[in-house]
Amino acid sequence: MKTKILSISEKDIEIAARIIRDGGLVAFPTETVYGLGADALNAQAVGSIYEAKGRPSDNPMIVHIARASDMGRLTPRLSPDIVNLIENFWPGPLTMVVKKKDEVPDRTTGGLDTVAVRMPDSKAALNLITMSDCPIAAPSANISGRPSPTRARDVIADMDGKIEAIVEGEDCRVGIESTVVDMTSGIPTILRPGIITAENIEAALGKKVQYDPALLADDQAMKNQGGEGLKPKSPGMKYKHYAPKAQMTVIEGRRDKVKAEIKRLKGLNERLGLKVGIILFEEKAFIEAAHDFFAKLRDLDGEEVDLILAGAMSDSDGVGFAVMNRMLKSAGYNIAKV
Ligand code: AMP
Ligand code: MG
Repeated sequence: MKTKILSISEKDIEIAARIIRDGGLVAFPTETVYGLGADALNAQAVGSIYEAKGRPSDNPMIVHIARASDMGRLTPRLSPDIVNLIENFWPGPLTMVVKKKDEVPDRTTGGLDTVAVRMPDSKAALNLITMSDCPIAAPSANISGRPSPTRARDVIADMDGKIEAIVEGEDCRVGIESTVVDMTSGIPTILRPGIITAENIEAALGKKVQYDPALLADDQAMKNQGGEGLKPKSPGMKYKHYAPKAQMTVIEGRRDKVKAEIKRLKGLNERLGLKVGIILFEEKAFIEAAHDFFAKLRDLDGEEVDLILAGAMSDSDGVGFAVMNRMLKSAGYNIAKV
């Protein structure tokens, strides 16, 4: 298939919207990462997303909308908490899991009776959704298991020839995927951390939120069992994710010791003839780390390093926690404590 490369001009977005309306696939920028979109209410179109990505079919999609009133097409009722979060955080990097209406195909929700919805804070994405005149199901626009794409060239590397079109926009502002919060029980439950933190949501709702226990699982348990038995509520959390081509180790411990260990391991491995890449962000620069992390993994892949040594960031439940969630998955929970 010849993939059209489109710009974010109105004329090009109209071409992209027609492709979506006709049941095709379009990759497009959002503020978090690039998405791979199809008409969320067209089961066949959504099916081709799984094919293009090589994504396990029980891993549901996030459905993107452009107006809060579109929630009514997807879910039968809006609780006061849901309305509150819409008002506080949309458009923005917060996805809510809510009860689904029958019109939402099982293909979109991986057979669940709930649907994940968000309104992206990106003009190109909002224009595309509005012109398509349908909610757009979109997971990240990478081959399943690879680092999420935060730049148009990363999307082209993974998806050229596999989908109808790619809308080339700016690099993504946030750089990691949205926070996913399950709103289907009394206590809002974070299924995937992002730059909107538990604390942000608690401040808006005036009540406690909890984390899916699988998220907080002991590193070692995750490493030993890959999370099996912990049953994450968010099906996507159980797959191998974000992996660079190189082997990757996260070094965890006091900052000075982490730096020294990275230096030691780098020297050791280079003497053995290996090419070593390093990921070490400024100590509390969590937002920058979120912005750069996936791009850095892809750049190191491009440099064909053999080994990546990454310094852990410590932040138990803020943005740093969201970055560490991605970093540990990328490394397959391969952790060295110092
Ligand atoms: P991605 O589309 O790659 O950003 O991944 C979407 C994330 O949201 C995955 O971790 C999914 O498992 C999760 N998700 C989507 N829909 C639901 C749902 N109905 N219930 C729980 N998690 C969901
Ligand atoms: Mg993804």
